Amino acid sequence: MKRFIPILVISLFCSVAGVAQQKTTLPKPNVVLFLVDDMGWMDTSQPFGDSIMPLNRKFHTPNMERMAKEGLLFHQAYVNSVCTPTRTTLISGLSSVRTHITNWTSITPDRATDYKDEVLAAPAWNINGLSTIEEPHTFLYRKPLPQLLKDAGYFTIHVGKAHWGSLGTNGSDPRNMGFVVNIAGSSLGHPQSYYGQQNYGNMPGKTTYNAVPDLQAFYGKDVFLTDALTEKATGALDFPIKNKIPFFLYLGHYAVHTPIQADPRYFGKYLNKGLDSIEAAYASLVEGMDKSLGDLMDYLKKKGVEKNTVVIFMSDNGGLSNVARGGKRNTHNLPLRAGKGSPYEGGVRIPMMVKWPALVKPGTKTNSYVSAEDFLPTVLEIAGVTSQQATDGKSYLPVLKNPSIIDNKRPLLFHYPNRWTFLADEGYAWSSGMRLGAWKIIYLMKDKKLELYNLEKDLGERNDLAKSNPKQLKELAQIWTRELKARGAQMPTWKATGEAVAWPDELIP
Ligand code: CA
Repeated sequence: MKRFIPILVISLFCSVAGVAQQKTTLPKPNVVLFLVDDMGWMDTSQPFGDSIMPLNRKFHTPNMERMAKEGLLFHQAYVNSVCTPTRTTLISGLSSVRTHITNWTSITPDRATDYKDEVLAAPAWNINGLSTIEEPHTFLYRKPLPQLLKDAGYFTIHVGKAHWGSLGTNGSDPRNMGFVVNIAGSSLGHPQSYYGQQNYGNMPGKTTYNAVPDLQAFYGKDVFLTDALTEKATGALDFPIKNKIPFFLYLGHYAVHTPIQADPRYFGKYLNKGLDSIEAAYASLVEGMDKSLGDLMDYLKKKGVEKNTVVIFMSDNGGLSNVARGGKRNTHNLPLRAGKGSPYEGGVRIPMMVKWPALVKPGTKTNSYVSAEDFLPTVLEIAGVTSQQATDGKSYLPVLKNPSIIDNKRPLLFHYPNRWTFLADEGYAWSSGMRLGAWKIIYLMKDKKLELYNLEKDLGERNDLAKSNPKQLKELAQIWTRELKARGAQMPTWKATGEAVAWPDELIP
């Protein structure tokens, strides 16, 4: 496979003239990442648990149900608890513990986004995100996933939210990450507006840095942002499909992130179901995203490329439950505890599915756990691309081939030496977590407290076993500390003394 790469690269960069050569090469699978922003594990009528639970009845996502029937569902997929750490991990294959991109990057340059705190100070994390060149306050990563795929002959398309770096930095522009096409991706973490009638925020005298770029064709029209992105994404696929060039589409929806603005096509239905106006708007954002998934799957089928296209559905962190939601805080991901910004399951466990008719058996499910770091090595293996760059992840291609493989023996880290926002309970600030096998260990740094949960018996993390299982706690704290140190983990410091907070194993006498 490898010796075909130069031919593909040459033909891609000679554009249409060289395209005829493509037909002589073996077809590589196309890859689509369908990435939803801030979507929780329970924000869907498709259960990701073992059974239908009450919150599943709140939402209507028929296309996710269809994807589950046509692909493989992951019960236990993990990411970081906020945007940029997960997103930079997806395209670097490196843990945010290692890159020191542990919090979200700003729409303005050189700004640490940590919420103010009287007691603890955040470490000197990479506040400008990921970069492929040397720049201040960034993690230097020469060849992100899209670049590796482009070098291997893939037509690389980015549509939607990027959020890998701050305004003006190399990493804020998807083209610098190896995307041939970029539509609407930048340093933005959320849109100013979802409405075409409001030009997605690009209104004279009202525009902020959060106005979504590149969608002028829809200005003034009744086209919801999610649909505009879908239309641009499928439009961008026409060229590689027509010319039989393998493609990588990274469709990063701004939905379902705040501002929680109603999608008028679905809003009334949820009001009629009895949801309050915020939750009805939220559910309408979810259903609009689901329609996009259906439109995309329909498009791939219509174009005859469905069979050899791998579609990976993911969210970038858990569902929002701390602020800005309707109803009671910390209830939006039940039975999972807490939400976005927290190391508890509500913050880091996400809905994930993979559809690939050529290889993945329809209607299958797996309990093997996966994490954001695994995305890069998996896609590279699928694409037959080798890279000398190290990764913290592991390819889950074997699980795609055989979902009964359970590979849950490695530690997954959810390290957040930062403060996200003003309400700091439930691990929403200065926290860390590790999953290993059935166990989950949580570190609430300000409280100098470790908690221990057995997820097989206690998915909701309600029964802290730290006191009753001291031996297990100690063993896990030692493994965890070793893993954190091996990746060069940063810790916050006590403002009073300037000293770093203790490592997990130092809390155990
Ligand atoms: Ca997010």
